[in-house]
Formats: sequence, structure tokens, C-alpha cells
Amino acid sequence: MQKKFLSGEKLKKKPIPVKNVPSVSIVIPMFNEEENVDILSKRLLKTMDSIGKTYEIIFVDDGSGDKTPTMLRNLFKKRSDVVRIITFNGNYGQYVAILAGFEHVRGDVIVTLDADLQNLPEEIPNLLAKIDEGYDLVGGYRAKRHDNFFRTYASKIVNFIRAKATGIEMKDHGCMLRAYKKFIVDEVVKTRETSTFITALAQKFAGNPIDIPVTHEERAAGGSKYSLYKLIRITFDLLTGFSLVPLQFFTIVGMLISSASGIYFFVELFKKVVSRHHGYGLHFAFVFLLLSVIILGVGLLGEYLGRAYFAICEHPRFIIREILEKKNGK
Ligand code: UDP
Ligand code: MG
Repeated sequence: MQKKFLSGEKLKKKPIPVKNVPSVSIVIPMFNEEENVDILSKRLLKTMDSIGKTYEIIFVDDGSGDKTPTMLRNLFKKRSDVVRIITFNGNYGQYVAILAGFEHVRGDVIVTLDADLQNLPEEIPNLLAKIDEGYDLVGGYRAKRHDNFFRTYASKIVNFIRAKATGIEMKDHGCMLRAYKKFIVDEVVKTRETSTFITALAQKFAGNPIDIPVTHEERAAGGSKYSLYKLIRITFDLLTGFSLVPLQFFTIVGMLISSASGIYFFVELFKKVVSRHHGYGLHFAFVFLLLSVIILGVGLLGEYLGRAYFAICEHPRFIIREILEKKNGK
């Protein structure tokens, strides 16, 4: 019904009321995105105002230290009919921010999007059309990526490992332009998962998913918020969150190495007894190898234990400082 009065100006005078249940919820994590807030919100509001569906946009400020919180606050003042803002008390990471958004969504369909305009807000209607066709999860995949060499290949490797270790079929788990039916998001929230891999998790719950190609542009402004360290963390989260393969791999490697070292020990013993042979080079190499395997194995055990620990003590995944929203759409 609100389809007709869609140009920006008219909307300011006559905002679309948010009903208790908007049909679409858009969740956007924001970390130091001051250069992108205005342009993103402008393009997003324009797109959503033009498709004739009720909607809400949940911005989750992930502890930004720049002007992002102030700018979001101003945006809320202008469009509190559709904008809701969750502010964290610190930086918890992109996926945790999305999870917080997921806990608060009211829509029947949930769309996630990055703030940096690498994916186009204008493509959201394509995803929604697929949901209307009956798919319960629509994943965007970046047919042509516009990231630097490191980021593109690091993420290709992570995609590859994820596919092998988890067996979850999806084209591009790192693409955040995705749409989910509400029940999937509810399941993700229910898991109390600490893993950052919610896209893969959601894929597991989907009965009828589809991947569609989406445009991927250069970051509109600012730099990638990902460091090498964060990428490594994500890979570990993924591996330990979805499979026991790394642990099993270590059991097998451990068995192989202990058999080999058993044989090696007897060979050395034989040499010593029969030919009185001396020399320590190999011994050292062997000890180092063994030590490295043990250390890695202990590290992996720590990964699993850490996850179990957080699950047991129900560590809060994030702390919200403030929520800005109109109550019941009034
Ligand atoms: N982001 C976040 N918290 C973080 C890092 C990133 O909320 O600690 C947000 C960021 O503002 C953006 C999205 O997650 O909206 C994706 O981040 P970025 O574009 O830096 O990742 P990349 O495109 O390099 O994968
Ligand atoms: Mg980006």
C-alpha cells in the first residue's frame, strides 16, 4: 500500500509506519564506517521505499571509534519509522554484530548486507524475489571480486577448506548479501553458537537454498576491517565449529607418527647395538617434528575446549550498550 509515494521527499513528510511485523528486516554490521553511513542509508532507503514491502533496517554499531554512532543517531532521528540501532559496548566482530541483529529482527525475511557498498543495496529486491519464488535462503556469490589479491585468495582458500571439512554446499560464504526466511535465523539464534560462521550455519538449516550471482564493487570508502589475524581466527572457528575433522586428523597423524617413531627407535637401537653408530642430527629433527605436532595438537584441543568452556559458562557473546527504536511502530 505504501508503494505509491516513494520518492524521498514525500517520504520525509509521510513516513511509512513500521508495523509490529515488517515483512523485511535488513541487518547491517558497522565498524568505523563514517564515510559510508550517509550514502549507504540513502541508497538503501531509496531501494526499500520503492518495492512496496514494509521493512526495518537494523544497524549494529560494533564499537566504532569514529563518527559512525553519531551519524547513525542522526539517521534514526530522520527515519525512526524504519531504522533501529543497536550499539555494542565494544568491538565484537562482524558476525557477532549480525547475530545481535538476528536476535532483534521482526521481519518474515531477513537480509544481511555489509556497510561498505561492495554489494549493492539495489540488488536486495532480486534476493527478495527469489524468496517469493519459494526458496528459504538466497545466498549471493561474488561472480567477480573486487578485493586485493590477499583478501581474494585468502577467502578462496577458506571457502575451499570449509567445503571440504564441513561438506556444506554454498558458493561463497563470505558474501554478506544474503536473504533468509525467519525460521532459519531463529534456528541460528537458538544454537547459542559462538562460531563466527553463521552463513555456513544458516546454510545447514536451509531446506531449499539457492545461490545467485551478485555484483561486487570496490569498497566505497575506508579500508577493509580485516587483518590477517582475524582471517586466521575465522578459519579456526570454522574448522572447529563445524567438524571434528581436525581433531580426527590429529589422531590419525599421531598414530602414524608414533608407529613410524617406534620403527625408527628400533632401527636406531639396532644400529647402536650392532654397528655402534653415532650421530644426533636425525634425532634432533625427529624431536622437533614430534614437538611441533604435539604443540599443534594441543592448540587444536584448546580450540575445542575453549568452545566447550564458553558454551558451558554461557559467556555473553556481546554486550549491548543501547538500542534506539520506536516501540511497536508508534
Ligand atoms: N565489521 C564489523 N566489525 C568488525 C569488522 C567489520 O561490524 O570488527 C563490518 C564492517 O563495518 C562492514 C562488514 O563488517 O560492514 C564487512 O567488513 P569489511 O568490509 O571490512 O570486510 P571485507 O569486505 O574486507 O570482507
Ligand atoms: Mg567489504
